[in-house]
Amino acid sequence: MATADMSTILIVEDEPSIVELVSYTLREGGWNPTAVHTASDAWDFIHRRMPLLILLDWMLPDQTGLRLLGRIRGDRQFNDLPVIMLTAKSMEEDKIAGLDHGADDYITKPFSPRELTARINALLRRKLPEHGQSMMTAGAVQLDPISCSVSLNQAKIEIGHAEFKLLKFFLAHPERVFSRSQLLDKVWGDHVMIEERTVDVHVLRLRKALKEAEHLIKTVRSVGYMLSEK
Ligand code: CA
Repeated sequence: MATADMSTILIVEDEPSIVELVSYTLREGGWNPTAVHTASDAWDFIHRRMPLLILLDWMLPDQTGLRLLGRIRGDRQFNDLPVIMLTAKSMEEDKIAGLDHGADDYITKPFSPRELTARINALLRRKLPEHGQSMMTAGAVQLDPISCSVSLNQAKIEIGHAEFKLLKFFLAHPERVFSRSQLLDKVWGDHVMIEERTVDVHVLRLRKALKEAEHLIKTVRSVGYMLSEK
């Protein structure tokens, strides 16, 4: 099973000049780009490491990007993986074929670095709100996703890695109840082998870290947990 890697964007593209431009743009945007040149290398890669998002070229040397996209969407563990198709084709029917095969978005070459960054950010906001890069707040608690820090009334607090991820997820989905298994799935990834009561341990630690703001994390009896300011 793949381990999740939440800063890596996988570029599947055989054209070196485009790989270079896209890699540069992604690094500028604070992501960690990795490029592969064929569909089969991409397939191997995602089984080892689950990227945050895939930029997938339409025309690849071994098989079409569209075919690879079909395989990705056909595999349950990659169902939600955000994919943007890159292509020189601007024909309407190709665009429809890409979206039909499960592409989340579509970008036509040539594109500007700014357009690419904007599309990626828009898609991540839509699909994975907890991976956005803007400040997240609830009450006196503020989480900065760029510096990976949390403050309470403007003062930084000590918080563990798992509690940070959990808090970030709650802040991205306020006022919504999640069961323990949903939290395991969404925060730790559904291929991680941990028991549901581990969630309770981390919720307990998160509340402790949040001190007087601990009331933000509510227990919803026999259902799970939620973040609520009410
Ligand atoms: Ca190509």
